[in-house]
Amino acid sequence: MDFQRLEQTLKKINSYSDAGEGINRLAYTAIEQQAVKDIASLCENEGLAARFDSAGNLIVRKEGVNASLPAVAFGSHIDSVYEAGGYDGTVGVAAGLELIRSLHEENIQTEHPLELIVFACEESARFGFSTLGSKAIAGLVKKEAIAELQDKDGILLQDAFKKCGLDLDKLGEAKQREGAYKAFFELHVEQGPILEKENKQIGIATGIAGATRFQLNITGVASHSGTTPMDYRKDAFLGAAEIALAIEKAAQSENSIGTVATVGVCNVKPGAMNVIPGAVEMSVDIRGISEKSKQIVIQELFRSIKAIEEKRMLMVQHTKIGDQAPVLLNQDVIRELSNTCEESQYSYHMMSSGAGHDAMNMAKLCPVGLLFIPSKNGLSHNPEEYSSMEQIALGATVLKKEVLKWAKVTSSTTGQI
Ligand SMILES: [Zn+2]
Repeated sequence: MDFQRLEQTLKKINSYSDAGEGINRLAYTAIEQQAVKDIASLCENEGLAARFDSAGNLIVRKEGVNASLPAVAFGSHIDSVYEAGGYDGTVGVAAGLELIRSLHEENIQTEHPLELIVFACEESARFGFSTLGSKAIAGLVKKEAIAELQDKDGILLQDAFKKCGLDLDKLGEAKQREGAYKAFFELHVEQGPILEKENKQIGIATGIAGATRFQLNITGVASHSGTTPMDYRKDAFLGAAEIALAIEKAAQSENSIGTVATVGVCNVKPGAMNVIPGAVEMSVDIRGISEKSKQIVIQELFRSIKAIEEKRMLMVQHTKIGDQAPVLLNQDVIRELSNTCEESQYSYHMMSSGAGHDAMNMAKLCPVGLLFIPSKNGLSHNPEEYSSMEQIALGATVLKKEVLKWAKVTSSTTGQI
């Protein structure tokens, strides 16, 4: 592989960005479409077959010796959040592109076909719906569920599709049958601090956390902050604070399994300096790769709600607003990936992925491997996001070795792999 060319590809993709701080390349916008079309025409010019499916995923294919065999696929996404960095998703696409181009140039033949997939709309930033492209490939999304979603300017998802030359009525055509892929691999930046802290070159995901989310509405009594003695109060915010601390404690006791819990929204009402909070709306996000461990934290959430209702004379209503099951990744793939790292003497760390990725949907169709490279200071979804070219090149090398293992090399003109 030509790592200088990989770096140029990364820069080229990141030259497509709307104005603003960092990278702004939101799903199904004109700028994102230009970027992905640029990748498609680059591949076509070099003689690789490139097509867009009905969800807007770009699929680049290098035929195998036996075209009827399932493809070995790899890829990631190039859409971004607002004010993003230039590495989340883009690294996996640039590495995958370099991989397929270099094999094509070197005329390396594989038994199985190879496919690079550039997934559409991985980020939920624009429409509040994540990994749309891979969900469509895995048959996990229906048109009705997303047609009416709007972005912050009031543009409907179905109209954004039209602008990209896509027809939401045909979304179902993107679905691939089970057995269409032999395996799928995604190379991604870690988006967290573990690899850097552990001083490891590669992260191998053992599972992808599923999020269970609740909205809590805590009701107390709003009254004068000066005239209501402390023992006559029904302060909704103090109840919320106790619940938040109880969940923190519960998640900390599950820390070794990697379960995490976050209160990310807490709206205090009426929100005045001189009024005791009468109501609080609060969100709870619990994630982990062990369903059992998640349930322990959820049970503790309910226990604390009950205790605080009684102790503080508050009323707490809870609504489950999301419940994703964790995805455990294929053991054979995990073992193979660790073998590949050991053969190359790269240091690696087994870890769970706290963030969702397209790989979790692809796991419905075939064995999946998810590889991480370190993120500087653990930062992601931030213009400061950074991984060095050495780190990216090493990740791309592991990706290539692994893909070729699964696709089975039959011949090459140069004899070089
Ligand atoms: Zn990503």
